[in-house]
Order: sequence, then C-alpha cells, then structure tokens
Amino acid sequence: MSPPVFRFAPSPNGYLHLGHAYSALLNSDRARDAGGRLLLRIEDIDATRCRPEFETAIYEDLAWLDIAWETPVRRQSEHLGKYRAALDRLSALGVVYPAFESRAEIARRVAAREADGPWPRDPDGAPLYPGDGKSLSAGERERLIDIGAPYALRLDMAAACRRAAGLTWNELGAGPDGERGIVPARPEAWGDVILARKETPTSYHLSVVVDDALQGVSEIVRGQDLFHATSVHRLLQILLSLPEPAYHHHRLICDEMGRKLSKSTRATGLRELRAADVTPAGIRRLVGLG
Ligand code: GLU
Repeated sequence: MSPPVFRFAPSPNGYLHLGHAYSALLNSDRARDAGGRLLLRIEDIDATRCRPEFETAIYEDLAWLDIAWETPVRRQSEHLGKYRAALDRLSALGVVYPAFESRAEIARRVAAREADGPWPRDPDGAPLYPGDGKSLSAGERERLIDIGAPYALRLDMAAACRRAAGLTWNELGAGPDGERGIVPARPEAWGDVILARKETPTSYHLSVVVDDALQGVSEIVRGQDLFHATSVHRLLQILLSLPEPAYHHHRLICDEMGRKLSKSTRATGLRELRAADVTPAGIRRLVGLG
C-alpha cells in the first residue's frame, strides 16, 4: 500500500500565526507517525491579496518550526489550466451557469427579501445567492457575455445534488458539534456557490478539490472552520469522479477572548513570537502539542 499523503495548504495573504502552526505541526506529526508524506501547497489564486513576501515568510516560519515538506511546492497560480479543465467538465454536465449580478446588487436583493423575513444564510453566515442567473435564457447569457459584462460562474446546486444523493465523508477529527465517523454532507446549505469568476478561472472550492486529487492527498488535516465546506468538496469530487480522501478537522486556536485568530492579530504571529524569543518547542506547548 502506498504511504498516506498529507498537506498543509496556507494562503500567502498574511503572516502565519499560532493557528497555522498548530495545523502545520499536526500535519507533520501525523505524516511522521503514519510513515506518510507531507506536501506544502501555496494557495495563491487571489492575486489581489497574496504577496511574495508572505510566501517567503511561510517557508521560513515552517522551517523554523522544524517541519520538512516535499519539493517542489505546488503553487496554485501556476496551474490555472487544470482548474479551467475541471470547470469545463462541470459545465459539460450542465451544473454551472453565469450569474451577472454585482456584489452590490446581491446585497440589495438580500435586503429587499429580508423585508419579508430572514433570508437563508450559508454555514459561514453569508446570504445564499438571491439572483436569477439560473433562469436567464441562453440568448440573454450570450448577449451579456458579448458586451463584456462581468460574471461569476456558479454551481447549480439543485442539479448537482441530483447527481450525488446520500453523500458522506469519513471524519477522523471532529466537527464543531463533535461530528465524527461517517458524516452526512449537506452541500445544499451553501446554495449556488461561486466556482470561478470571469477574471479568475477558479475558486477556493474548485482548486482545493482538484489539487488534493492531483497530488494524491489521502488525509486532509485542517481547521474546523472548513468543516462545513467539506460538503461542497465531496460534491465536487463526485461530479468530477475524483477519489475520496479522509478528513481530519482540528480545533481552532483562539485568542484570550475566544475568537478565531486572524492574520492581523500580531500578538499571536509566529514572527512576533520568535522575536520575543519563544522557541519552536515553546510554540508546540502554546498550541497544546507539547
Ligand atoms: N488555503 C486555506 C487557508 O489558508 C486552507 C485550505 C484547506 O486546508 O483546505 O485557510
């Protein structure tokens, strides 16, 4: 049997903090204990937020933590053709449509609907897509594309779910409500998610699923903040005939107020802690891996 494959997949849009350290160390420990491989993937598809100095800092901070990853490192921005090909496969299944409403128009529609009561929200708290991209005629879609109107490509969730009934995943860690073992997926809770935009031929959901499959990742160790997104990932794996990895969602490291850490919380940044003479062993203790 081939060795299990793990990956740590940060986005270079800020400096790493204790939460990333915990995730990276857990991946590294599990790979070592299972005789597996550890990959590092740079998730840099958002060109407006990712910066080369953050990527350099990721390598430095992980090396300082004594984490060893395989090279070459996969950088998502270098593989846009792969995501475009996956998008084409989904389009051929008839489960993708262009939606032309701007963010402001979406907000306006949600506010209008909310005059009649709460509008449904996804597990991250964002309102479900309220627009009517799905019902536009083929001619109208073509006309808007021809005049250069911006658009997002959305997953027709209802049509997609019809192709993938009874979806589950194997949770080796735990969800926010203690879910573990075989967990039912509920992708419909996300509505018609964005898979790509006119100017970016992919999205987090699409590229993560394509890359995990291409890199042969067998156990995905990541934070509980991505637990619910796994429902969308399982759905895309079925639609694209990709293998099913196991998932291990881990607890989040929070600040003293109980809030999830963010890349702007300097006090818990690895660079700040290192400058304050905290050692890699000290970082392990701080995240409860002592
Ligand atoms: N790139 C994502 C992040 O930095 C993690 C993706 C994943 O582990 O699936 O939050």
